[in-house]
Amino acid sequence: MTPEAISAFKKEFPDILENELMAKHTNLRIGGPARLFLVAEEPSILLDAAALARKLKTPWYVFGGGSNLLVSDDGYDGLMIQIAFRNIKLRQQTVTAEAGAITSTVARQTAEAGLAGLEWAVGVPGTIGGAIYGNSGCYGSEIKDNLVTVDCLDKEGKPVVYPLAECRMGYRDSRFKHEPHVILRATFKLTPGEVDKLKQRMDDVMRMRKEKQPLEFGSAGCMFKNFVFKDESELDRLKQDVKEIPPEMLAKKSLSAGWLIQQSGLMGEKIGDAQISDKHGNFIINLGKATAQDILMLTSKAKMKVRDDYNIMLEDEVQLAGF
Ligand SMILES: Cc1cc2nc3c(=O)[nH]c(=O)nc-3n(C[C@H](O)[C@H](O)[C@H](O)COP(=O)(O)OP(=O)(O)OC[C@H]3O[C@@H](n4cnc5c(N)ncnc54)[C@H](O)[C@@H]3O)c2cc1C
Repeated sequence: MTPEAISAFKKEFPDILENELMAKHTNLRIGGPARLFLVAEEPSILLDAAALARKLKTPWYVFGGGSNLLVSDDGYDGLMIQIAFRNIKLRQQTVTAEAGAITSTVARQTAEAGLAGLEWAVGVPGTIGGAIYGNSGCYGSEIKDNLVTVDCLDKEGKPVVYPLAECRMGYRDSRFKHEPHVILRATFKLTPGEVDKLKQRMDDVMRMRKEKQPLEFGSAGCMFKNFVFKDESELDRLKQDVKEIPPEMLAKKSLSAGWLIQQSGLMGEKIGDAQISDKHGNFIINLGKATAQDILMLTSKAKMKVRDDYNIMLEDEVQLAGF
């Protein structure tokens, strides 16, 4: 960034931070300094910052909870904006959550109000903006299932509202991954439910996560997407390369990336302080001092082994910034 641009941002946003370590803001606890770092507690702060970045041609990047983000060890030479407007409004069976609303808080508040649909999301770290961006999901549900509209800014900074059909939500995918937008808020339609049952479901979800995931370490959740079979011929090919596919994966037409990594014998594999968790094959954890390089080398080792063993190319689920 040029010194002139830095002064212009500092003048307009007195609270802006310089050289803020991104390791403080990512769940992996990894990432070098953002040249400028701004917390947008109001949508207006985001709008003004994005407008100035556009005017000065400064690179900028928005993020929420940093729970699906790997930031380079060299940091980010531009403006990092953390979306932190977090209002949640319930009206009858509709909930509108600002992009910075914490996903698990939205799940709890709606369940406590007797609204069903988001209980599964209680253990998904991060924000609603991040959840929409990657169409987060688990245990058979996805954020798109109850989604009605998404309000955003398009790449020219114009406000747009997309109905669900135009959000192009897919498996860990959305139009927002392919066309730059800033997600401002999302509206969901829920259904009436019994509070006690909804709370029980959330407790069950939390218990399963604690049992299966290495939550005591920094991670970005699942590093790779599961492998979805395209058609029957691909399945026939897979049956030859991958022996003993569990019936539930056959039924879902999807091979779990964690299972493939486990079958490849990579559980517990380490590079530096990055390790493929021995509890969950799709989690790469930071044992303390892992660098982004360690993580990238380990992800490519896992990809190469799975490709060599099974002729399957795993795709990243984690998002990269500053590379
Ligand atoms: C322990 C653990 C468990 C997890 N379990 C699950 C799970 O069960 N299911 C699942 O799907 N994911 C899971 N994840 C991954 C992660 O929590 C989700 O992807 C989450 O929704 C990301 O939200 P975030 O706010 O942290 O996004 P961030 O990590 O901050 O950002 C991720 C991406 O979204 C973009 N983004 C964020 N906010 C906006 C916005 N407002 N507008 C435009 N783009 C935006 C960023 O630019 C970035 O590319 C898990 C992660 C961890 C660490």
